[in-house]
Formats: sequence, structure tokens, C-alpha cells
Amino acid sequence: MNPVLLLIEDDAVLRGGLMELFTREGYRVIEAGSVREARQKKDETVQGIVLDVGLPDGDGVSLCREWRAQGETRPILFLTAKDEEFDVVRGLDSGGNDYVTKPFRMQELLSRVRVLLRNSPPRKAALSRGGFDLDEERMQVLKNGEALPLTLTEYKILTMLLESKAVVSRDRLLQVLWDDGGKFIDDNTLSVHMSRLREKVGADHIRTVRGVGYQWSDIM
Ligand code: CA
Repeated sequence: MNPVLLLIEDDAVLRGGLMELFTREGYRVIEAGSVREARQKKDETVQGIVLDVGLPDGDGVSLCREWRAQGETRPILFLTAKDEEFDVVRGLDSGGNDYVTKPFRMQELLSRVRVLLRNSPPRKAALSRGGFDLDEERMQVLKNGEALPLTLTEYKILTMLLESKAVVSRDRLLQVLWDDGGKFIDDNTLSVHMSRLREKVGADHIRTVRGVGYQWSDIM
């Protein structure tokens, strides 16, 4: 199940770029360009909110405060511009969880969003692809109903592959594996994990995309 973000940004070019970025990373993105549109589009599927502070019909901080007052608990990350009046204290007081200042590095935004979603209670949804079932409660992957004997690292890699419709980059795998365990994993180690994982799930299920990363394939 791809994580769902609500992206509220009025700069169409930036919004387009962010849409592309998040989509490539396996998120599903709902976009909005104004406060009005944001109110309409925030539905139950949304797991995290990326909220521009300066919007044509209002400001993100007030919108955040309004949502929190209504009991909204999902994580909210502000996008602020250097030349915009953004008071960090006021922003976080309004109930925002984090913020990044434009111009920001795409990788930084991605990692902040990842942390936010990780710290918020995950939405449990069974994932099933090509005879493989992901059981997040037990941290297991079942192949035709039988649990695969996976190491923790293999489980994490396999989860990322199963959850993404797109190619998962080596960089992203390395980053997540490193973030989670605190133990450094280099390129060679990743290759070793990958080949062991392939033996367990069937080599043809994991496609190598040269120079980029890996992609799950349902059909053998
Ligand atoms: Ca703006």
C-alpha cells in the first residue's frame, strides 16, 4: 500500500516537481493549490500533509491550527520560503510537526517526510502481490501462504520492493536500511543481501534496473 500524501503548494512548477519526486519514491500524492482546495481534498486516505505556508487564499499556519482544532492528528510538514514571514515557534505551536525552508534539497524533504510518516501510527493494510503476502504485524512475508525465512534486512528490502510499483533506487534502499538500523550498509553488502533475497523469493521476481535499482515483478 503506497503511503498517501496531501501536497498543498500554489507554485505550480514546484508542485509538479514535488509530485514527480514523491511519485517516483512510491507515494501516492493528492495535490492542492489553495486553502480551499486543501480543505476539500483532505480525505481519510491521506497519511501525511505537506503544507506550503504562503497560499493565495490564506496561510498554511492558520490552516494547520484550524485542522488541529478539529482533531486532525496526521503529521503536517510546512514548506516555508526564506522571504516569507514564518515564525518557527508560531508554526510549531499551531500543531505543525516539522518544516523545511525553500529552497530545499529534494533528498532532505524526502527524508523528513519519511521520518514523519514513520513516527505516526501506520495504517495497516494487507498487501498482496503475485502470491506474496506482507504481514506487517508479524514482520513476515508469506509466499503462497508460507512464511519465508528472512533476515530483518531482507524483510525490509522485500517490503520496500513490494510496496513500490516503481523502481526502488539503490540509494533509497541504502538510506532506509541505514536509517533504521544505525548500522552502515554499503553497496556491496546490499548486493549480497539482494542475491540472498532473490534465492528465497525466486530470482525473476526482482528485476535489476541497471544504474538505478530494483523493481518487483509479480509475474515469473
Ligand atoms: Ca506559496
